[in-house]
Amino acid sequence: MAKYNVHAGHNSIVPGAGKYLDEVAEDRKVKNEVISLLKSAGNTVYDCTDDKGKTQGANLANIVAKCNAHSVDLDISIHLNAGGGTGVEVYYYTGDSTGQAYAAAVSAAISEALGIPNRGAKATTGLYVLSNTKATAILVECCFVDNKTDQAAWNVTKCAQAIVKGVTGKTVSATTKPEGSTSKPASKPAVKKNLGNVDIFYACNAGGKNWPEVKNRLDWCGKADGVALKYLGLRVSKGAIKGRVYTRASGWLPWITFTNSYNLNDHANGCLGDGSDILAIELYYITPPGYVYKKVYYRVSVIGNNSFYSAQIDDETGSGMDGYAGDKKNAVDKLQAWIA
Ligand SMILES: [Zn+2]
Repeated sequence: MAKYNVHAGHNSIVPGAGKYLDEVAEDRKVKNEVISLLKSAGNTVYDCTDDKGKTQGANLANIVAKCNAHSVDLDISIHLNAGGGTGVEVYYYTGDSTGQAYAAAVSAAISEALGIPNRGAKATTGLYVLSNTKATAILVECCFVDNKTDQAAWNVTKCAQAIVKGVTGKTVSATTKPEGSTSKPASKPAVKKNLGNVDIFYACNAGGKNWPEVKNRLDWCGKADGVALKYLGLRVSKGAIKGRVYTRASGWLPWITFTNSYNLNDHANGCLGDGSDILAIELYYITPPGYVYKKVYYRVSVIGNNSFYSAQIDDETGSGMDGYAGDKKNAVDKLQAWIA
């Protein structure tokens, strides 16, 4: 998963803008919700908000010091605008194409969520936070505090959800959303790097034994036709993979997210399964932020039918796909998976 720094601008000693909305009050609400949403999606998030700086300069320096104490994928600075305008705009450091892509995606998402004008991504070298943070950074001006239309449209939750959607490419509904529940890439920042080849490695327990790991489509995992998979472990060479299995004893088990390791002997958290027959498998590949999305393709065969069912892609439905592989009735005896 990704790492983010998130902070709200200004503080109560050196407040920001105000009129119909109070910037310091509202930017902190948005900040808290963005952090909560990103964390519930499995990301690492640091709150770099400063409440101690007694001057504007001290406030900015404190924020940047906190940001640069962590190595992250993106710094997100949250502000509200003023000065006679309407709508949302998002700043990035001039020449940072990754920042530009995030800025454009976040601006568009907030505009859509709040129904206010999209002023778009704006390049600048004049904002202290953008100039002095080490990681790619964006500064979000969510709306205008001195515009009545913006005030009427203002909604902290919608704004926070839109920021997360713009940054991760995934739609989120609420912070109470169960960890690992399925979310589909909705909007994707326009400029993304190519991730290159991603390998998936996976192994299973079947017939009372852990079987050697297999890679991509070079082989399949399982013991043999007619022997049910009981536990399954997965790992990927880049990004992360989220998986869950439907078992004869329990139905759908909780999602587990794997990065570069699993443990078939750790039946609590190290692998998927509860020791009963696995009847269906659902996988979702989590592309690192800033890269063109990739997906996991996977297919199973079940006991009583030696040929593979057609491949399932992530949690997609339609075109003959159910959103998972398997039929929830017959035990899975072979699995094959690859990332493309
Ligand atoms: Zn501000």
